[in-house]
Amino acid sequence: MRTRFAPAPTGYLHLGHVASALHVWGIARYVRATVILRIEDHDQGRSQKVYEQSILDDLAWLGLAADQGVLDSQSPSKFRQSDCLPCYEDYLAKLRQAHRVYPCYCSRKSIQNRLASFGGEVFYPGFCLPEGQSPADLDIESNWRLHLPNTLLGFEDRAVGPQQQAPWLQCGDLLIRDRSGHWSYHFSTVVDDIEQGIHLTIRGLDLLPSVGRQLLLRSMLGANEAMTYVHHPLILDDQGNKLAKRARSMSLQHWREAGFRAEDVIGKAAYQSGMIETSQALSLQQFYELINE
Ligand code: GLU
Repeated sequence: MRTRFAPAPTGYLHLGHVASALHVWGIARYVRATVILRIEDHDQGRSQKVYEQSILDDLAWLGLAADQGVLDSQSPSKFRQSDCLPCYEDYLAKLRQAHRVYPCYCSRKSIQNRLASFGGEVFYPGFCLPEGQSPADLDIESNWRLHLPNTLLGFEDRAVGPQQQAPWLQCGDLLIRDRSGHWSYHFSTVVDDIEQGIHLTIRGLDLLPSVGRQLLLRSMLGANEAMTYVHHPLILDDQGNKLAKRARSMSLQHWREAGFRAEDVIGKAAYQSGMIETSQALSLQQFYELINE
């Protein structure tokens, strides 16, 4: 069994990431799974090496060592998305050959102008969907979109129970690559999960709505093995919002500089995300013992 911790290096890690990492390492220990550290820097506009290095430093400070994955921020790695671009091209080529994707010329703004977005998501109903087959050999600078069937999908999440999702009704046809050549989150993460043999996905509840479309994409890319999902509760701020990477004051770096110990941060994250019932400092070892009881 293989699982992954997959942060995006677009900011400093905060308590929410610690909670997520504790879920990944805690569950992996319990089920004896291998943990992979994947750097999800598909968003080249926002990803920075300085953030990637701080992710590595923060995990080392917490004592969370991955079994495989990115080990240092300077050497190339097959677990860093920006080092996997030829692989994404190959998978897109498969979808093109199967006429599942089509070029799209709409900008995000033009879609928003034509439609109201639903729940913060941009819904793309297929303005550029071709009448017949999409040309498979067309090499033009455009967005590439995957035509999703309008189906209802059921799956079981180990933390929140049985779920039903209608991916097409959530987001319409899925962006795979934008016109600047940037790969989308859904596409790159699904390709990585397939290539890295991941069958256990543990992440925050904010990503629960992504499961249906990622399952469809997995099966269109030929991955038939089941994926086990665990979506854990998020740590919210005083206003009930998800913690933001932008708030430097909430970052792990800031906690470290302010003199907090790893035990303080581990205890706080475990408590605030509902993994333990009382607020207390915890070494990693104590944390593992407590959740295994
Ligand atoms: N890179 C995503 C994030 O930092 C996580 C993606 C995933 O676990 O599927 O929120």
